[in-house]
Amino acid sequence: MHVNDHDRYDLLVVGSANADLVVGVERRPAPGETVLGSDLAVHPGGKGGNQAVAAARLGARTALLARVGDDAHGRLLLESQRAAGVDTTGVLVGGAPTGVALITVDPSGDNSIVVSPGANARLAPEDIRAAGALLGAARVVSVQLEIPLETVAEVAGAMSPGTRLVLNPSPPAPLPAHVLAVCDPLVVNEHEARSMLGGAAGATPEEWARALLGLGPRSVVVTLGAAGALVADTRGGDAVRVPSPQVEAVDTTGAGDAFTAALAWRLGRGEGLAEAAAFAVRVGAAAVTRRGAQASFPTAEEVPVGGV
Ligand code: ADP
Repeated sequence: MHVNDHDRYDLLVVGSANADLVVGVERRPAPGETVLGSDLAVHPGGKGGNQAVAAARLGARTALLARVGDDAHGRLLLESQRAAGVDTTGVLVGGAPTGVALITVDPSGDNSIVVSPGANARLAPEDIRAAGALLGAARVVSVQLEIPLETVAEVAGAMSPGTRLVLNPSPPAPLPAHVLAVCDPLVVNEHEARSMLGGAAGATPEEWARALLGLGPRSVVVTLGAAGALVADTRGGDAVRVPSPQVEAVDTTGAGDAFTAALAWRLGRGEGLAEAAAFAVRVGAAAVTRRGAQASFPTAEEVPVGGV
């Protein structure tokens, strides 16, 4: 399909959409123990849904390719995507209940999450093949691992030379070499970096980045929480540290998704990796200052100005 450049999506996110069921706790229960938490809050989430909303809120022309259940959670997710300005023509409905994430947040803002993938696990390779026009209309495609690995592999195999793949291996899983080879970049947090490298992990983020590049992606971004991020590229140069603005973290849910969406959008606009990451750390920092995942994502005006 021929697509005029101005008709292209800045970003197509292929990934999960979940209803996040969030409870605040003083501390997490030990096995066999019950603790009381706050009132339940239900928020739209899932890494795919989060990234799509984060990008659209920043002003990116964004589409989501996902699967939700034919149920109240699915309708909530579709509504919230549309409200953020995301094109949802690629969201498939039915096949299983909408994915759900059970999230506890402790007083320090750290979260623990159990995911029931539901419809996300039914987003199949044939769904990707059927969405060829959508894939061909995107400057950047962002994918995570909350959908089946064979579906991720189908996305990677469908990349055309004019389209860039951003992959966040979350939750971590071994990736085939042909998928890694088209990642530009592979975006990992510290946990995902260690998980992918296993015993081969070095002591510093620079060493992780070098080792991750050795796995085959064209470039790597390691996010480092309050310390920002580190970028490294096979096309030369040393790894570059990108510091984050210092903010008071209230809830880190979705920070990595906001970061990745912002990064992907700016890469699609032609920015270099370090430049795009310098914007993305500001978006990530803004996201941790507010509660929730999608509710915490900033508009372009709400992104803190550059500098640390
Ligand atoms: P994840 O959310 O996947 O665990 P990180 O914790 O590395 O990933 O956070 C992703 C990005 O969010 C960071 O690169 C940074 O820009 C921002 N961020 C996260 N935590 C903080 C914090 N405490 N202060 C400022 N920025 C943060």
